[in-house]
Amino acid sequence: MTRTVYINGQYLPEAQATVSVFDRGFLMADAIYEVCAVLEGKLIDCQGHFTRLRRSMAELSMNLELSDDALLEMHRTLIEKNALDEGLVYLQLTRGVVDRDFAYPPEDTPPTLVAFTQDKAIVESALAKRGARVATQPDLRWHRRDIKTTQLLYPSMAKMAAKAAGADDAWLVEEGYVTEGSSSNAFILTQDNVLVTRELSTDLLHGITRAAVISLAEDEGLAIELRAFTPDEAKSAREAFMTSATSMVTSVISVDGHLIGSGAPGPVADKLRAHYLEHSRAHAM
Ligand code: PLP
Repeated sequence: MTRTVYINGQYLPEAQATVSVFDRGFLMADAIYEVCAVLEGKLIDCQGHFTRLRRSMAELSMNLELSDDALLEMHRTLIEKNALDEGLVYLQLTRGVVDRDFAYPPEDTPPTLVAFTQDKAIVESALAKRGARVATQPDLRWHRRDIKTTQLLYPSMAKMAAKAAGADDAWLVEEGYVTEGSSSNAFILTQDNVLVTRELSTDLLHGITRAAVISLAEDEGLAIELRAFTPDEAKSAREAFMTSATSMVTSVISVDGHLIGSGAPGPVADKLRAHYLEHSRAHAM
C-alpha cells in the first residue's frame, strides 16, 4: 500500500508529496516537529504534543492557521487513510518557501505543514524487552533544546558514536551532568528508591511522556527529585530508564558498559511502563 502523506491541506500519495528546494526547513532547518504515538489506531497524549507545538511556534514567531481541532482531524484522517494500527504520526512545520536569507521572511509567508504516518512496534518493542545500553557523549547541541526543532544532526552523530561504542543510544552530558538522551528524557532510580530526572530548563526538551510518567510515579507514591545527575550516579543507580512518545518507558540496562542493577529491566521501570501503557490506552483519542 502506498503511503498517503499530508501536505499543506492535501492528502497525496507519498511520491507526489514534494516540498520546494527553497523551503526554509530544507535550507536552514527553520522547522519544528512533533511525534504522536498511535496505539490501536488512536493518538496518545496528542493534546500535550499540540500544546508543545504552539510553544515552539511562539518561541520562533511561526504561524499556523490550523486550530488544534483541525490538527487532530488531520492526524485521524492520516491514520485512517494509512490503516495505521500501531506506530506514529510525524508532523513538521516550516517557515515556508522564500529566497534564501538569514532574516525571517514577512509574517504572511505561508508556512509549510507536512505530516505522515510510520509503522512501529511500540508495545512489543524488542529494545524495551531487552533494555537499552547507553553510552555517554558530550552534549554539543545549541542552547534552546526546549524548542523541538529539526536540527537533529548532532543527536544523530551522538547516536552513531554510541552505536560505534557498542551501545543502543547516547545519553548526552554537559558540565558533568546528563542532560537527556539523543531523543528521550533520562531517569534514574537511586539505591534509596528516589526517582531522579533533570528539572525543566532550556537545556532539555520538555518531554510529554516525561511529564506523564512523573505524574504516574507520584500516584505510585514514589519519591521524586527534579535535578541533574552525573553518569557515575547513573552507573551506581538501582534502575535507569528513558521516556519518549514512541519508546514510552524503556529501561536502560547499562551506561558506558557498567551494568545497572542486574543488567535487566528493573521492576519499577517495568511497572511505570505498564502504567503508562494503561494510561495511554485509557486516554487515547
Ligand atoms: N528529548 C529529546 C531530545 C527528544 O528528541 C525527545 C523526543 O523526540 C524527547 C526528549 C522525549 O519527548 P516526548 O516524550 O515528548 O516524545
